[in-house]
Amino acid sequence: MKQAEEFYNFDTVYINNAMKDHQRVSRILSRIRNTPQIVYVDDVNSLLSSQEIVHNPADRSRRLLLTDIRGEILRKCPCTHGHIPCNYYIINIYVGCPLGCSYCILQSYLSQPMNIIVVDIENVFAELDRTFRENPDHFYRIGTCESGDSLMYDGLTGYSTECADFIRRYDNAMLEFKTKTTYIEPIFSVEPTPNMVYGFSLNPDIVIENEELYTARLDERIDALVRLSEAGYTIALHFDPIVAVPDFEQHYGECIKRIMKNIRRDKVAWVGMGTFRYPPELKTMMDYNYPQSKLPSGEFIACEDKKFRYLLPSRVRYYRFVRETVSQYLPQVPIFMCMESGEAWQRALGGLPKKDGELSVIFKRMHNS
Ligand code: SF4
Repeated sequence: MKQAEEFYNFDTVYINNAMKDHQRVSRILSRIRNTPQIVYVDDVNSLLSSQEIVHNPADRSRRLLLTDIRGEILRKCPCTHGHIPCNYYIINIYVGCPLGCSYCILQSYLSQPMNIIVVDIENVFAELDRTFRENPDHFYRIGTCESGDSLMYDGLTGYSTECADFIRRYDNAMLEFKTKTTYIEPIFSVEPTPNMVYGFSLNPDIVIENEELYTARLDERIDALVRLSEAGYTIALHFDPIVAVPDFEQHYGECIKRIMKNIRRDKVAWVGMGTFRYPPELKTMMDYNYPQSKLPSGEFIACEDKKFRYLLPSRVRYYRFVRETVSQYLPQVPIFMCMESGEAWQRALGGLPKKDGELSVIFKRMHNS
């Protein structure tokens, strides 16, 4: 894949005036490769609403906004109506991504004209610290990937190291960085801690080649997983979105075998699965941004949350295959599904989490083992 620095070219960088003297702003500016136009703004909301709507991720990624964290800092992942939540929390420190996956859900709800980096991570940490201390009996599994790739802009921010050093102080929380990049070098400068998890989204070559423009290829991601796990870092595997490709079992079987061959399997915290799904707006955006994609041309059914999914028997077949193949290598590792119905859980995994929070208990056990 391209070097991270190749993505660090911008036409314009907008800086929230309230953050203009923040040391991270000057650090980020010093790491940008070109000399962008710099625009200082007093009112970020006006900036976002006054600009022309941008639907194309590549166009959006030519502009960057450096600002402070806004709104609710730690949010429970809303999952999706009528489906089983996995009790994941999210913090949005990045918004937008240039990696160009045809199926990227961000296309359906981001219309702002620029990517965003939150620069005041210390305020995020302060809020997390307060929350963890006030709720010592609650277990928090947190991700930073809802609105962008967790490592895409790490070369600008250095957040991977700061986050690892922050989260290691807590025994009631795990933090996951989820990525499709190989931008892992900074991670090795901090000691591993079991509750800092590096999750990789994985798919067979055929899906990566056809549906992802600038992500790391499968072999590159496997190399990153091997390096991290051998060095003692906790890793996670995500097969999401699982895609209906011809010769499904052959492609996914081979993909899983290649992953499992060299990684340190005792460092895998969990395995997530989710099949390709889309709200109607995403289909419109995919037609616009990635007209060559074949993904939405299969057989789909509208589900309770108004998203289209493969028919239930197909989903169950895909989940079962991935679960059974993964379990041959990782019999003890929790496997869960993302945004799936109770029936899919029953038929693919043999049951539902017995009560709200059971998944959290499983993950807590992982953290403490
Ligand atoms: S890596 Fe993730 S956030 Fe980035 S384009 Fe792909 S799906 Fe979207």
